Amino acid sequence: MMYSDEHQEFRAMVRRYVDQKINPHVDEWERAEMMPLHEIFTDMAKLGMLGLEYDPAYAGQGADHLFTLVLCQELGRVAHGSLPMALGVQVAMATPSLHAHGSEELKQEYLTPAMRGETVCGVAVTEPEAGSDVAGIRTTARRDGDDWVINGSKMFITNAVQADWLCTLVRTSPEGGYRGMSQIIVPTDTPGFRVDRKLDKLGMRASDTGLLTFQDVRVPVRNAIGEIGRGFQQQMSQFVMERMFAAYSVPISCASELEQTRDHARQRKAFGQPLSANQYLQYTYAELAAKVDLLRVYTEATARSYADGGDVTRMATIAKLEAGRLSRQVADWCLQVHGGTGYMTDTWTSRAYRDSRLLSIGGGADEVMLRVLSLMDGFS
Ligand SMILES: Cc1cc2nc3c(=O)[nH]c(=O)nc-3n(C[C@H](O)[C@H](O)[C@H](O)COP(=O)(O)OP(=O)(O)OC[C@H]3O[C@@H](n4cnc5c(N)ncnc54)[C@H](O)[C@@H]3O)c2cc1C
Repeated sequence: MMYSDEHQEFRAMVRRYVDQKINPHVDEWERAEMMPLHEIFTDMAKLGMLGLEYDPAYAGQGADHLFTLVLCQELGRVAHGSLPMALGVQVAMATPSLHAHGSEELKQEYLTPAMRGETVCGVAVTEPEAGSDVAGIRTTARRDGDDWVINGSKMFITNAVQADWLCTLVRTSPEGGYRGMSQIIVPTDTPGFRVDRKLDKLGMRASDTGLLTFQDVRVPVRNAIGEIGRGFQQQMSQFVMERMFAAYSVPISCASELEQTRDHARQRKAFGQPLSANQYLQYTYAELAAKVDLLRVYTEATARSYADGGDVTRMATIAKLEAGRLSRQVADWCLQVHGGTGYMTDTWTSRAYRDSRLLSIGGGADEVMLRVLSLMDGFS
């Protein structure tokens, strides 16, 4: 049995929370192009949804990885992609390195309040000149006495407009390439840090995304996470958690989109019969539903393997690749079956179409996943 009674009780609690506390606000957050993350995260933390696998000493829940899988699956029922993404940044993208490698002092100062939902955080890797090729980043942190002095810019950073701190990847020595990088915590109220612009996006409209500048930003040397010079490697492992978190919700969100589209096709008539009477649509639906099932089983196998202590780099990469492709395919088809109505801005089909487009770009584009897989298999 994959899920225990505790997992299922947790599932029921998250599902109730999504139905009662998240989905009723989604339209309002989409219109505002912002979500009150401090409020939402504090609420979710009180119910034990943040820091599921983290040490209770830092406000974590000390739970097993399947609780993360269950949380993500239920987040697949959220009526947009923005909140699951913002939460994913907080618990699976900006904090895994801090939990795994941070000093006791840093964890008490930054991880504990973040897992209580009192502070919002983000992860700042991408730059205007370097996204897919992380080894191309140029932001530097020069040591000056007991401080780092940071200069550079970061692009497309989720949660950045309201974040209290950022796990920032910088160059701390000039070796170049993969070497000489470190992850440093930058509080966003540090002089010299600024959000240049809140970026306007195709989808994920309720999520705030920033273009950031660091100009002689001084933070203490002790804000470096883990080993100085190992930032690239630490960030690569952090990406594995990000990819799992992102992929886990997709089978549920796709299944829900297909179900709503099936109901629409049964009720909508064309050429004297319901749309659902067309074999072409029946078979397309069945093919997509089968792919969704395969992805669900694959993501569950990935979670099981991780929970058992396996190295899931390959499985997480495949899951993220397939999740990105399938979510786009399903959202596109569902919009098509809804016709002109589906194309209207305020419909769920249109939102799903816009939001789903990101997964094949963010957290490593599809082509980067293919690159990782071919390199792992020695096809280079
Ligand atoms: C809404 C949003 C939120 C984001 N949030 C964050 C965040 O919180 N933190 C953060 O650090 N970053 C974030 N990103 C950045 C994201 O991770 C990058 O956009 C992504 O990694 C791609 O980098 P790029 O945009 O610079 O594209 P580029 O690196 O310029 O690549 C462009 C395209 O080229 C193709 N490509 C790239 N490499 C190869 C290759 N080797 N072979 C073949 N084709 C290739 C891909 O199709 C890729 O999409 C976010 C992006 C968006 C849009």
